[in-house]
Amino acid sequence: MLLDITDPLDSKKEEVKPNPILGIDFGTTNSIIAYCEKDLTKAIKISDKELLPSIVKLGHIEVSSVKRLFGKSYNEIMSGDFVSDDIKNLLYEENGQLYIKDGDRKIHITQIASKIFHKLKTEAEKELSIACEKVVVTVPAYFDEPSKKMVKDSAKLAGFDVVRLLAEPTSAAYYYGLDTKAEGNYIVYDLGGGTFDVSVLAMKMGAFKVVSIGGDQTLGGDDIDFAIARFLREKFSLKPTNDSEINKYAKELKHKLSNADYAEAQIEGQIISLTENELEEIAKPYIDRTLSILKKTIYESKIEDFSGIILVGGSTRLKSIRHAIAQNFPDIKILGDVDPDKIVAFGAAKQGYNLANKSGDLLIDVAPLSLGIELMGGVVERLIQRY
Ligand code: ADP
Ligand code: MG
Repeated sequence: MLLDITDPLDSKKEEVKPNPILGIDFGTTNSIIAYCEKDLTKAIKISDKELLPSIVKLGHIEVSSVKRLFGKSYNEIMSGDFVSDDIKNLLYEENGQLYIKDGDRKIHITQIASKIFHKLKTEAEKELSIACEKVVVTVPAYFDEPSKKMVKDSAKLAGFDVVRLLAEPTSAAYYYGLDTKAEGNYIVYDLGGGTFDVSVLAMKMGAFKVVSIGGDQTLGGDDIDFAIARFLREKFSLKPTNDSEINKYAKELKHKLSNADYAEAQIEGQIISLTENELEEIAKPYIDRTLSILKKTIYESKIEDFSGIILVGGSTRLKSIRHAIAQNFPDIKILGDVDPDKIVAFGAAKQGYNLANKSGDLLIDVAPLSLGIELMGGVVERLIQRY
């Protein structure tokens, strides 16, 4: 008689196998979930793409850039120009909490963001065929505690257990393996869809310290798209096609030019085109703005010797950014060729893998903002000074 022999330890092994800890870059424009296994780090595909547009559809409305609302007061949002009028019209405040009106319903902004986390979770579980619960999530270096808590709450609402929050620039630097070097000063230049962030990091005794930060919350690739659209409208005397349609073509031509010197598209039967020289000219004022912020942030760091600059964010695929940095900062080396869209998520995934495997290579991220406790009347007592 043949016995079906199974090793009882096998099923036990399955049970005790720790869930991998994944990494999430919750971006203003695009979000990514990534997975790390030893030397391999990869982004999970979502509808065949690796980036999930951070846009949430609620019935007949679309909410984009919800991350921009985090940590802001109702008055700040309504008086500022960092969110669209569509969002402003739907925004609603109750007991200091922000909601978006959707017909008769009101939806808390963390609930809206949780839909992005939820999509990332389901897609990761589908691809990896395991329950994905634990995650490392990245947040901008300038986020204060309430803003960070909102990111954490959004992830929790989607069923995630956030084991660590990591500053976006620290995550990018960590992915480069800069943590293994004893000392060094680095710059992270991050130009996304709607925001520009620059951070100076000093690596000392196994910890990244964010020494100075700068940026512009209303400067990004979207502005370049609008400028290209204005240019195209004039150059080709485009009929009054709606703006969002022309913006879409503008973005498409811009993307094509990162691998070519000439790009064309067809809009309502008409051929439109853009050359690299034209794009360089159009993007120049925006890139110049990033360069002056970069100079100021370097100046404020009081650091003079840098081991390198890391380019992060989809917009750094613009060829003219590399040229401009090389020309203006000839002594600062542009580091490696890592995918600027994914490096932040990859750093978080690498950190997740190391946490799950209890590797000694643990990263300590140092808070760039002062920490404090709020006393009665809103006075903040600083416990730890910012650098
Ligand atoms: P965020 O951090 O705000 O979520 P991303 O880092 O995903 O943003 O960057 C999105 C921006 O990158 C968009 O403006 C997009 O047009 C731009 N981008 C993506 N690919 C390219 C490319 N090949 N050339 C120029 N810009 C690009
Ligand atoms: Mg980003």
